[in-house]
Amino acid sequence: MTEENPAIAAIATPIGIGGISVVRISGKGTFEIADRIFLGKSKLSEAPSHTAHFGKIVDYNGNFIDEVVAVIFRKPSSYTCEDVVEISCHGGYIVTERILQEMLAAGARLAEPGEFTKRAFLNGRLDLSQAEAIGDLIHSQSEAAYRSSIRQLSGELSRRIKSVGDELLNLASLLELELDFSEENVEFANRKSLEERLENACRIVKELLSSYSIGKIYKEGVRASITGKPNVGKSSLLNALLQEKRAIVSEIPGTTRDTISEGVSINGVLFRLTDTAGLRETADDIEREGVERARREAGESDIVLLVLDCSSYDHNSNDPLIQQLAETCTRKNVKLMKVWNKIDQYKGTAPRRPEDGFFISALQGDGIDSLKAGLYKMAIGQDVNESSIVVTNSRHRDALSRACESLNLALETLRSGKSSEFVSLDLRRGLNALGEITGEITTDDILNNIFSKFCIGK
Ligand code: GDP
Repeated sequence: MTEENPAIAAIATPIGIGGISVVRISGKGTFEIADRIFLGKSKLSEAPSHTAHFGKIVDYNGNFIDEVVAVIFRKPSSYTCEDVVEISCHGGYIVTERILQEMLAAGARLAEPGEFTKRAFLNGRLDLSQAEAIGDLIHSQSEAAYRSSIRQLSGELSRRIKSVGDELLNLASLLELELDFSEENVEFANRKSLEERLENACRIVKELLSSYSIGKIYKEGVRASITGKPNVGKSSLLNALLQEKRAIVSEIPGTTRDTISEGVSINGVLFRLTDTAGLRETADDIEREGVERARREAGESDIVLLVLDCSSYDHNSNDPLIQQLAETCTRKNVKLMKVWNKIDQYKGTAPRRPEDGFFISALQGDGIDSLKAGLYKMAIGQDVNESSIVVTNSRHRDALSRACESLNLALETLRSGKSSEFVSLDLRRGLNALGEITGEITTDDILNNIFSKFCIGK
C-alpha cells in the first residue's frame, strides 16, 4: 500500500435524470469530509465498514440538500483500497451536482477520468489488464464484448501472462546462473529441454497474439455494408436482418440516397449494417453522391453483402458497376458475400449452388437465419473454442507482438549454440514486454493514456 492519496470526489452515475445517482469520495480524510456534509444518526467516521446509513446532506449553512443513503467502505476493503464513501441520492442534474460541490467545498478535489480505477491499480487491487477490462466492460456494446471483458477482469489473461512470464524468468535465471559459473564451463540446463520449454512459451504467446483478430471483432464489431443495384431488395434485407422496418422499402428505384446504419447482434457479435444507395449511373446529383458514398462505405467495410435479384441468376449478368465493386473488395481485402434475393419470385431452373452465395427472400424471411450464420462464420473465420483466451486490446497486441519477436530471437540464438548471455538478454526483453500488459512494467505516459479514456467517476 502506497502513501495515502488526498481525497477525490466525482459523480459515478451517468449525468441525467434517473431514480438515484451515486456520488463518491475516496482517499485520505474521506470520512471527515463526508461528516461535514452528512447528518445521520451517527457519524460516518465512527461507523464500521460496509454499512449503509440513512441521513441528510446539508450545505455549510445547514441548508437541507437531499435525503440520501451513505455506504461506507474502510480501507483496504474498497474499490480503490482507500477509505470510500458512496452517497446514493435522488437522481437528476441539480441534486448530484450540489452534493458534489459540497464535497469539494468540504475538502475533496474533483477526480480525473479513471482516477478511482487508477488508484485501485496503484494500490495493487487490480493489475493493469484488469483495470483496462473495467473500461471495456463499461463500454461494451455486445454480448461478445461483455463476455471477453468480464473474463479479462476475472484475471484470466493476467494468469496466462504470469505463467509464461514465470517460465521465462526461470529460463533466464538458469542461463544467468551458468554465466556466473562460466569459468567452470558448467551447463545447468540441458539444451534440448531448454529449447522445448522456450518453444512452449513461444507457442502460448503466439496463440494469444493471433487471438486478437477475433478479439478485435468481439470488441469493435463487424462493419458490413449492403450493396447492389437499385430495387434488388437492399433496404428490405436490412429490415429483415434487424427485424424492424428501419429503412424505407419502395418499388421506386433510387429511394435510398444516403447511407443508413444500424447495429444487430448475431451470436452475441455486433454487426454494424449499412444500407447504401443502389449502384447505377445517374444524372441526379444527389443520387450520384449516394452511389459514391456506397462505394466508399463498401471499401471501408469488413464485409460487403452484394444483393442480386434472383431473376438474373440463370444468366448471372455482370453489371460493370458490380464488377468494379468486386474489384474494390479484392483490392481492399474486403470479404464479399453474394446474396440472391427474391427467391419467392424465382422461375428459373438453374440449380442453386452454395458456392454462388446465399438465396433469400427478404420479403418473406426465407434464408435469413442461414445468411446470419454465414455472416458470423465469414467474420469470425474459424471455430472459436469457448474456453480459449481472446486478446481484445491493441496495447496488449503490440506488447505480445514484441514479446513474440524477442522470444523467437532467443530461440534462434539458443539453437545456434551462441553464448547464454544473448539468449537471456532476449528472454528478459520478452519478459518486459509481457510485464507491460499486466502493468509490472509501466510508465506515467502509458497509465495516463489508459486512464484518461475512462469516464470521470470510474
Ligand atoms: P432496394 O432499392 O434495393 O433497397 O430495394 P427495396 O428493399 O426498396 O425493395 C424494392 C422492391 O422489391 C420493393 O417493392 C420490395 O417490396 C421488393 N422486394 C424486396 N425483397 C423482396 C423479396 O424477397 N421478394 C419479393 N417478391 N419482393 C421483394
